[in-house]
Amino acid sequence: MLTYRPTPVQILQHEEWNNAGVHVLVKREDLNHPFVSGNKWWKLKYNLIQAIEQGYDTILTFGGAYSNHIYASAAAAKELGIKSIGIIRGNELSEVDNPTLQFAASQGMQLHFVSREEYRYKNENQFRAGLTEKFGNIYIIPEGGTNAFAIKGTKALGEMLLNEIEFDVLFVAGGTGGTAAGLALAMPDKKIKVVSVLKGDFLKDEIFSLTESKIKQADVLTDYHFGGYAKYNDTLLDFIANWDAKQLPLEHVYTAKVLYAIDDLIKKKYFKSGSKILLLHTGGLQGKLV
Ligand SMILES: *Cc1c(COP(=O)(O)O)cnc(C)c1O
Repeated sequence: MLTYRPTPVQILQHEEWNNAGVHVLVKREDLNHPFVSGNKWWKLKYNLIQAIEQGYDTILTFGGAYSNHIYASAAAAKELGIKSIGIIRGNELSEVDNPTLQFAASQGMQLHFVSREEYRYKNENQFRAGLTEKFGNIYIIPEGGTNAFAIKGTKALGEMLLNEIEFDVLFVAGGTGGTAAGLALAMPDKKIKVVSVLKGDFLKDEIFSLTESKIKQADVLTDYHFGGYAKYNDTLLDFIANWDAKQLPLEHVYTAKVLYAIDDLIKKKYFKSGSKILLLHTGGLQGKLV
């Protein structure tokens, strides 16, 4: 299987948080693997086991040009000695002008560009049948990696957090919600705050549907997306630069928005004195802007 490096838990120091009596810990899951980092390691784990056990020699998956999932899938397949194919949205882009796709290609991933219109059909049976016809015996992993095997993996991640760390509330970024869904299944008695990195109000329903409504808690925060997926402003960039200098590397798409939400809620006196907050750093630092 994929190599895994055990990751540390770091205590963040901040004067205003100290004054509020709030403790913030970070599980540095960004450090678990040099290329298959953070939640992507856990989302891919059981998919790869399944693919190999079922005798597939190729995985095929989908993503945009800056997708951490594409980046991680390419490296994971290479490490396990299987082939990978990436169906990339937007045929105006080529692998030469984008570091994520350059990396994926360097790992041996075969890249296929499809138009945004065509990409919309990626989950339909007919489109998938076409892919199988074209590429042969492929194990298909959906965009963002979220499926039942991914949730099995992120549930295992949640169990690890529960065993290792004492905390009152867990904060995590939500994109497709697959990570949050597995974590919520692992810890039915804990509070989880999912910071949506996309604009809109659909993530809560998505998490309930991914868990087949087996969870009672999944509090989605929808005010910290900074304009939408991968969007940012100077406030967020200053926030990141400040934490980088204090030894917590953050990127602008996911974990920076989560820590920003924590900081904002502490300042608004949302947490009782003595609260222990756990931030899950979900990785993806290769996508840092600076
Ligand atoms: C993909 C990704 C997420 C979002 O995970 P979902 O399971 O899609 O919600 C969060 N953080 C990082 C760094 C990611 O790469």
